[in-house]
Amino acid sequence: MNRRRFIGATAGAAAFAHVPMALGAVAKYDLIIKGGRVLDPSRKMDVVRDVGIARGQIAAIEANLAADAADIVDARGKLVVPGLLDIHTHVGRAKEAAPLCLADGVTGLIDAGSQGADRIAEVIEVAKSTPQPCRVLINIGRAGILPEGDTMDLNRADVSAAREAIGRNREMIAGVKARLSRDVAGANDFEVLRRAQEAASAFNLPVMIHMGQTMSPLPKLLALLKSGDVVTHMFAPPPNSIIDDNGRILPEVTAARRRGVRFDLGNGRTGHLRWDIAEAVLKAGFLPDTFSTDWTPEGRTAQVIDFPNVMSKFLMLGMTLDQVIACATVNASRTFPVFRTRGTLKVGAPADIAVLELREGSFEFVDNFGNQRSGRQRLFPGATVLAGKRVAARV
Ligand SMILES: [Zn+2]
Repeated sequence: MNRRRFIGATAGAAAFAHVPMALGAVAKYDLIIKGGRVLDPSRKMDVVRDVGIARGQIAAIEANLAADAADIVDARGKLVVPGLLDIHTHVGRAKEAAPLCLADGVTGLIDAGSQGADRIAEVIEVAKSTPQPCRVLINIGRAGILPEGDTMDLNRADVSAAREAIGRNREMIAGVKARLSRDVAGANDFEVLRRAQEAASAFNLPVMIHMGQTMSPLPKLLALLKSGDVVTHMFAPPPNSIIDDNGRILPEVTAARRRGVRFDLGNGRTGHLRWDIAEAVLKAGFLPDTFSTDWTPEGRTAQVIDFPNVMSKFLMLGMTLDQVIACATVNASRTFPVFRTRGTLKVGAPADIAVLELREGSFEFVDNFGNQRSGRQRLFPGATVLAGKRVAARV
């Protein structure tokens, strides 16, 4: 045994002594991410460490991993966080989308209702081909997202068509989406949501509602939501916000959270995010459970840009770095079963990791209404590790 190396290893915080490699042995780790600030809200960890990865899993997190590795990522001065999970995107529309998100640090995706029963096979085909885990929510409107409104014609909210599609694709369909705004469902919003629940209940699946600018009052819609359901676009301005004019969160909103309904950002580009509402909601102490981009190709050049940029908006609005990372990792892992073992850096978990840069400076952010704000910090994508392997950097 190499004595010096043995002493070096035990002098660290390591619980296990490193076994020196025999001649000709393969490296102990496939990859080591070296010297980064490891921030993992699932374990309340925020400390400079090395992360050792073997066989696609997190194998060790220690102060100085002295073992050999086939590949090294230098993360000094950077953040090392669990791979980001984006629970509201439209990546199912194009094959190029998911790899772009992966380079941003996103190692898990949900396509939230791009298609309904009629063309669900198209998004499922894309979801099956993505490098990272991806599942889809089926739009209760059988023709998917329509410019004239998914369920303006109530006949499109077809329970039996949705059930049949779910039955054929149990592995890939993670829930049902109901888009309820005035220009999507009109006066049908309540009945559309009732039907979405009817389709979902047969399979014990969650429903995600797209709230904001609905015809029905929000409390009436929330009454139909069960534990595990998700409300996206939680910072939508009136009519029918989650907060009233006096800065008070509606009691029905608080009650919904108490019974297990989850509240999600859904950044998007139109009508969902306004700074004054977000500020008032956060000031009232009602923090989001999850962040999501509502990703579309158009969003890459305006407003959304990438998931780390979306997260940075909430640093600007006063959330802590730890809270912001939690919304994009561990909290999202609790929302859909496909992510249950993810969103954490605990030893034995799948080695899905985002290396991010937190830069200081002056950064412009814009809400969905053209209002500009500047923040002093912004997160930038660095390296991504998926299933223990480093992903090619974005070009
Ligand atoms: Zn959407």
